[in-house]
Amino acid sequence: MPSALAIGIDLGGTNIKGGLCDAAGRLVAQRAVPTEGEHGPDHVIGRMASMARDLLAAAGGQSVRVLGVGAPGPISHARGVIFRAPNLPQWINIPLRDRLSDALPGLVVVLENDANAAAYGEFVAGAGADVEDMAMLTLGTGVGGGVVVAGRLVRGAFDNAGEIGHMIIEPAGRPCPCGQRGCLERYASANAIAERTAEAIAGGARSTLAARVSSGERITSADVLAAARAGDTLAAQVWDSACRYLALAVVNIQHLYNPQLVVFSGGLIQAGAEHLLVPIQRHFDLLRWKIAPDAPRLALATLGTDAGVIGAAALARETLPG
Ligand SMILES: [Zn+2]
Repeated sequence: MPSALAIGIDLGGTNIKGGLCDAAGRLVAQRAVPTEGEHGPDHVIGRMASMARDLLAAAGGQSVRVLGVGAPGPISHARGVIFRAPNLPQWINIPLRDRLSDALPGLVVVLENDANAAAYGEFVAGAGADVEDMAMLTLGTGVGGGVVVAGRLVRGAFDNAGEIGHMIIEPAGRPCPCGQRGCLERYASANAIAERTAEAIAGGARSTLAARVSSGERITSADVLAAARAGDTLAAQVWDSACRYLALAVVNIQHLYNPQLVVFSGGLIQAGAEHLLVPIQRHFDLLRWKIAPDAPRLALATLGTDAGVIGAAALARETLPG
């Protein structure tokens, strides 16, 4: 039997979260500290190692042999390297896996893309616990993605499979910081919804949010949804178009992977099923194949921000001999 406990750490731009997970994906101890990314990679890696030692101590003598880290990417799982981390500007080609291995003798360290780890967490212990094939879209600052096929996380040959947020859904569309144009995340992330609304107002569109945008206030996706619900036409159009783009992504995912389930997670799901899943489902039913019954179920994630920690720990545990 693999060791019962594994450590998972989720490296974020704001916080480092960690946990000690049992074989069922339950967190038996949790920690969180500010990332303090402004002090550079060495400082952050030191904080991650301290957290891992703290969690080892919390294991109370039970065997812990693996540490899984979910980190912003692109990354190389095979080489254990973070190529770039969008919210950690000095992180360029950082060999995080080996740095942590050196600091933590006796632990096998595994590096994963954070969105892949979160998707795997939902697969192991959350919304996907009863399926074998699922995809997850994390809707926050950007759009993260992860795909599980036949019970296995799909990493791809270069470890960057599942980057659903950079699926091009509008050729010659909005520029993306990744260098492409028309990426899903430029239309359907929480940030994009707020940005697209503000841009339309700046371009002369009428909206109840106009005064706030004109005064320089940064509106949020929650503001856009609230305005849409109160009858604001522009806000309703932007919100609905984000749901349509997400439905397009689901159609494309369906044709690629044919999953039973597509899960949505991240800050945007605070909108709830009524305002997110129902419109995505409506658009999906219009856009999808009619010549075969293929249609994944749509669901909201259930683990919240713990999914990345749980998934990283579970993926690390899989490296142990069975
Ligand atoms: Zn992109």
